[in-house]
Amino acid sequence: MTPNITAAKAALSHLEIEEKDTAIRAKSRDFFWYSPVLKDRLDHIVADFVVSPRTEAEVIEVLKVCYAHDVPVTTRGAGTGNYGQAMPLSGGCVMHLTHMNAVKEIHPGRVIVEPGCLLKDLDAACNETGQEIRMFSSTWATATIGGFIAGGSGGVGSCTWGSLRDLGNIIRLRVVTMEEEPRILDFRGEELARVSHAYGTNGIITQVEIPLAPAYDWVEMFVACDDFMDAARFAEELANEDGILIKLASVFEAPTAKDYFQRVAPHVDDGTHLIALMVAPQSMDGFLTFLARRPVARLIYRSDDNDWPRTPGAVFEYGWNHTTLRALKVDPSITYLQVRYGFPDHLKLVEQMRDQFSPEVLQHLEVLRENGKVMFAGLSLVKFTTEDRLDEIIKLHEDAGAMIFNPHRYTLEEGGRQTVDDRQLQFKKEADPKGLLNPGKMIAWDDPDWAYDQMYSYPKIQAAE
Ligand SMILES: Cc1cc2nc3c(=O)[nH]c(=O)nc-3n(C[C@H](O)[C@H](O)[C@H](O)COP(=O)(O)OP(=O)(O)OC[C@H]3O[C@@H](n4cnc5c(N)ncnc54)[C@H](O)[C@@H]3O)c2cc1C
Repeated sequence: MTPNITAAKAALSHLEIEEKDTAIRAKSRDFFWYSPVLKDRLDHIVADFVVSPRTEAEVIEVLKVCYAHDVPVTTRGAGTGNYGQAMPLSGGCVMHLTHMNAVKEIHPGRVIVEPGCLLKDLDAACNETGQEIRMFSSTWATATIGGFIAGGSGGVGSCTWGSLRDLGNIIRLRVVTMEEEPRILDFRGEELARVSHAYGTNGIITQVEIPLAPAYDWVEMFVACDDFMDAARFAEELANEDGILIKLASVFEAPTAKDYFQRVAPHVDDGTHLIALMVAPQSMDGFLTFLARRPVARLIYRSDDNDWPRTPGAVFEYGWNHTTLRALKVDPSITYLQVRYGFPDHLKLVEQMRDQFSPEVLQHLEVLRENGKVMFAGLSLVKFTTEDRLDEIIKLHEDAGAMIFNPHRYTLEEGGRQTVDDRQLQFKKEADPKGLLNPGKMIAWDDPDWAYDQMYSYPKIQAAE
């Protein structure tokens, strides 16, 4: 199959097509460079052209034309993914959904929206009805809802609502296939798993229906502790207080706050372990009582009453993967891991990993609810030396029982649970028979016998110049 780029571009010339090389290159990149491993492999990747459809009918046209001319299509929301999800590994077309951003309907408890809507714009529209989205990636200001569902996992709000994959957090997805005659399908229930967190490898989401929660003017806070495990326990116990509503509880091992959080640094010292919180205003009385019972913790900032000369900005922009971003800006040798510290061993495992690796690996924990239990997602900061050492650190975590979602790999399987998701594979066979959607991201499609004993390298990846 040789893609006929010229013919595809000519057939789509009445749509918005990006011609400038610099813009094509910019829209061919996401945040893969968070990982030195991916940076080494993907830095040269570039699409042949970028098209920005305005309607579902135009999405169908792009898919139909690219199918006819064997051109790969990689969909782009805002390109903030950091597993290289949106990188067009073998070139072809990047389909940018920036214009498909309409909020279609808002009802009590649910919203229907186009995929290119920014999370912040979606929240603003829902706020007008006294509602908000249950959870968002910390890239709320820049990322799209379609990209969050196809490439993300959870984030701010997951301490209460769990992850995107949990039943009830997505109601319906409308999906377009890449066939000679693309079909439009509506997925609910079990069918949602076919395309959510599938990196756009087996269908394009053109409409999203998600549940909403009541909107609050969240009080954002920083709490300081002198002992790391005290800080971890504080966050866990707070999340377990049934009467206190929270949206975020993040824990940062010292000296993260002092070294990497510029506006927080004047208010902490090298040994301060920091907790970032979002608490509903009506829960503040309960929270302050909870705090008073724990003399190990000091409230150093609250957004509704503070005298810091420079306010820190949104507290959630210190958490989730923003922690890594802040650290990287100060020390480019920092990279990260994504760890699951599962209930009931989460605290013990965190302590064990910290004893084994600190300060080469600094703990950054996010409180997460899974199956009704409070546990931690770890987005540990790693001082990178070599790929071998990084692999060794990962293996030692896994051996100890701390599951790793490896952010130094660009395939669905390696960034996930290292296994084939059969539902996604079966749907790809049906919906993308030529294998043109985001090629190279699903090992099960390319190489069903892959043994997962080394990093997968997509054979048709563009050669570096
Ligand atoms: C600083 C920082 C913090 C982050 N924090 C979080 C976090 O808290 N939680 C989290 O889950 N992630 C996080 N991420 C990763 C990423 O920002 C989020 O997952 C984000 O929601 C992705 O949205 P996007 O619009 O940028 O998607 P993109 O990066 O454009 O796309 C993501 C994937 O989805 C596919 N895709 C996009 N739109 C569609 C569509 N309509 N149909 C089918 N496939 C599609 C793309 O092809 C790609 O594979 C973070 C990243 C950074 C850089």
